[in-house]
Amino acid sequence: MQQVDHFINGAFVPSVSGARIARENPATSEPLRSIARGDAAEVASAAIAASRAFEAWGRTPSVERSRIMLAIAAGIDARLEELAHLECEDTGKPLSLARTLDIPRAAANFRFFATAILHDASESFMTERPARALNYVLRAPLGVVGCISPWNLPLYLFTWKIVPALASGNCVIAKPSELTPTTATVLCDIARHAGLPAGVLNVVHGLGSEAGQAIVDCPAVRAVSFTGGTQTGRRLAARLGERLVPASLELGGKNAAIVCEDADLALAVPEIARSSFLNQGEICLCSSRILVHRSRMKEFTERFIAAARGLTVGDPLNAETDIGSLVSKAHREKVIAAIERGVADGGVIACGGEVPKSLPARVANGAFLQPTVLLGVPHSSSCVQDETFGPVVTVHGFDRHRDAVAMSNDTRYGLSASVWTRDLARAHRIAARLHAGTIWVNCWMVRDLRVPFGGVKESGIGREGGSEALRFFTDTSTVCVSLGEAL
Ligand code: NAD
Repeated sequence: MQQVDHFINGAFVPSVSGARIARENPATSEPLRSIARGDAAEVASAAIAASRAFEAWGRTPSVERSRIMLAIAAGIDARLEELAHLECEDTGKPLSLARTLDIPRAAANFRFFATAILHDASESFMTERPARALNYVLRAPLGVVGCISPWNLPLYLFTWKIVPALASGNCVIAKPSELTPTTATVLCDIARHAGLPAGVLNVVHGLGSEAGQAIVDCPAVRAVSFTGGTQTGRRLAARLGERLVPASLELGGKNAAIVCEDADLALAVPEIARSSFLNQGEICLCSSRILVHRSRMKEFTERFIAAARGLTVGDPLNAETDIGSLVSKAHREKVIAAIERGVADGGVIACGGEVPKSLPARVANGAFLQPTVLLGVPHSSSCVQDETFGPVVTVHGFDRHRDAVAMSNDTRYGLSASVWTRDLARAHRIAARLHAGTIWVNCWMVRDLRVPFGGVKESGIGREGGSEALRFFTDTSTVCVSLGEAL
């Protein structure tokens, strides 16, 4: 697919203005897509379509909504190879990763919420004083909602937002990242064939400052679910706050991995390497600060550096590739600048830090970067404090567990952390003091879709996952029925 158009009211359309965005393949630097560049005009059309569609979709029985969601999941499965190739082209990530992580998770998101809505139960409360009454709680979809998603896990995160919104009876105006818009567009085709009525899902492509801003400012939009950078989230929240429109914000992270003195390094080293470099380090949950008990520092760093050096950086289409291209050369520049700041502040590059030299000809001009480990960077350095969102980690020593906790919490972010120890009581003591939305013990990115997911501090507001997302996209009314006098 070279031409990526909006999906409004069940049809693929270009922008009224005719404006388009050119996107190149980050791994090859060759022209890849021409993307419709939408603005308030497309969002207004989408809002009309969505408002109209809501009249029926908002009243469609949940079993019927569930049936369509399951049909979409089956449609994703059937087009897995195509979707994985498109995701790989748009992002630069290894095809093997798109095939095993991104696309299967998109189908799983549909199956999860399609079945969750079948198990919904409403609450009731018996009142005895001052009068006998039965209160029961009704939940209703909001109407038209906005969903805005980033480029790092495109279809995975796009569906993580739109599916709970659709499953709970809302109509959606969504915007994927302008860098990675293609799989969301194929999804619209799948949804259409699966029987999703026109106007229920609308996708407007374009820049954040234009199409994204128009969704945020659209008077029909009753709530916005956003995943992206903290700065963008802050701007969105201010704007939505003015209109008293609720926002769910999943933002950046600077996540610590804490390696205790009794950690099983045979487990911890490969898993922390995976947590640092999977998807080129472009996952909000990636470890970027590794805090190691000083008694294990030498052993850990030697083994970790060997693990980082052992990763294959190369053509995303090659089955042997562990690390593909970053999403763009502009993003690689930002990541390299962070490494340079770490070095300027006193750090030493223990491995990586450079653009790989011997890449295959097809990808010789891509946005690749070696996995990079920095030692000796002061924890106060902006290299350690600011989100890098690339294959870069800093390693720091600690003496006492309380120092590790203090260091882990010494950042404005609070998305996730991991703790590596054989002593589960110790793990619990540390986990309970960490300021993070998710804490993994002796594992990383094990995701159960039922658990609340989100960040504390500047990593976000609100929670996604399971019933949390369904709650976000619904309003409650309480009906209070007088039961009169007791017998
Ligand atoms: P970004 O904030 O630049 O963009 C995210 C989305 O918002 C894009 O679709 C973009 O077009 C849109 N956007 C930009 N400006 C906007 C505006 N003014 N109004 C409305 N929409 C606007 O983020 P990104 O670079 O695409 O993604 C990387 C960031 O996402 C990282 O900070 C990463 O940590 C974060 N992220 C967080 C999570 C999480 O679950 N917490 C998951 C993945 C990524």
